[in-house]
Amino acid sequence: MIVLGIESTAHTFGVGIVKDGKIIANERDTYKPKEGIIPREAMEHHYDVAPSIIQRALEKANVKLSDIDLYAYSQGPGIPSCLRVGYEISRYLSNKSKKKLIGVNHSIAHLEIARYFTGFDDPVMLYVSGGNTQIIVYKEGKYRVFGETQDIGVGNLIDRVGRALNIPFPAGPKIEELAKKGSKYIEIPYVIKGMDVSFSGIETHIKKLIGKESAENIAYSLQETVFSMLIEAAERAMAYCNKDSLVITGGVAANKRLNEMGKIMCEERNAKFKEIPLEYAGDNGAMIAYTGYLMKDYEQIDLKPIRNYRTDAVEIKYRKW
Ligand code: AMP
Ligand code: MG
Repeated sequence: MIVLGIESTAHTFGVGIVKDGKIIANERDTYKPKEGIIPREAMEHHYDVAPSIIQRALEKANVKLSDIDLYAYSQGPGIPSCLRVGYEISRYLSNKSKKKLIGVNHSIAHLEIARYFTGFDDPVMLYVSGGNTQIIVYKEGKYRVFGETQDIGVGNLIDRVGRALNIPFPAGPKIEELAKKGSKYIEIPYVIKGMDVSFSGIETHIKKLIGKESAENIAYSLQETVFSMLIEAAERAMAYCNKDSLVITGGVAANKRLNEMGKIMCEERNAKFKEIPLEYAGDNGAMIAYTGYLMKDYEQIDLKPIRNYRTDAVEIKYRKW
């Protein structure tokens, strides 16, 4: 069975192809705004690149459009105008070939691809991207969000601080580089309530430090503080839910310091930790195709995009327990 999956929830338009559960193509193009995402521009970007990305994925996989048995698309959560692109294109392709279309929850797809690459059966997932920050755990037939940000995503915080420091979007890699040169820890609010974190107060606080402290020390203190919050929440989830492995995914998972903290925490509690290949940590089409493959027997009535698609709205029927 060959599945073609389309990702278009935010800045990335991605197409993945999976054959009998194995990834055979993963192509993408990312809209790169000067500042934050402008939904209309992102949508136009996706429509513009869609034909060539689909073509490239088919060539990589060495299959034809007529070989595709099942289509999958990222149904949400995401930016409505962006979600529409994936929906319309996948609906058109599936209608034309009279093949089934599956709507995939984007956060669950991140988790399934993490399981695919790490081989961990039942990890706690720390999902850290521009727009999302969630801790997701499987429990009784559903993936459940045990903790999340109460306001902006951690990547968004990093980008906003970056903008205030005149670092172009996305600021993550540059902040990471600066942080390596920082040596003085500046006290920053540590905002964690139970399993939830919050970043907007931290943003306000840090912006007031600009000009008074060096960019290196600000970047260093920012990373040490917010990554500790995230790892603390992830550790609590592992303890509460009795899970013995952790995966970190999303664009911020590119950060070496965050991974190092995750690894240390896991070692200390005798748990497993493995990094996911960078190509599959950020938004990608392969995770949608793969999760579509897992969901191949689902009967879905409403396939329209769901902007606030909740992770626990999906009943997980393909796991053994
Ligand atoms: P995503 O939304 O999953 O594509 O992730 C994009 C976010 O990841 C942006 O907010 C980036 O600033 C952030 N990011 C990328 N690389 C790094 C890094 N090395 N350290 C921290 N954040 C990063
Ligand atoms: Mg994502």
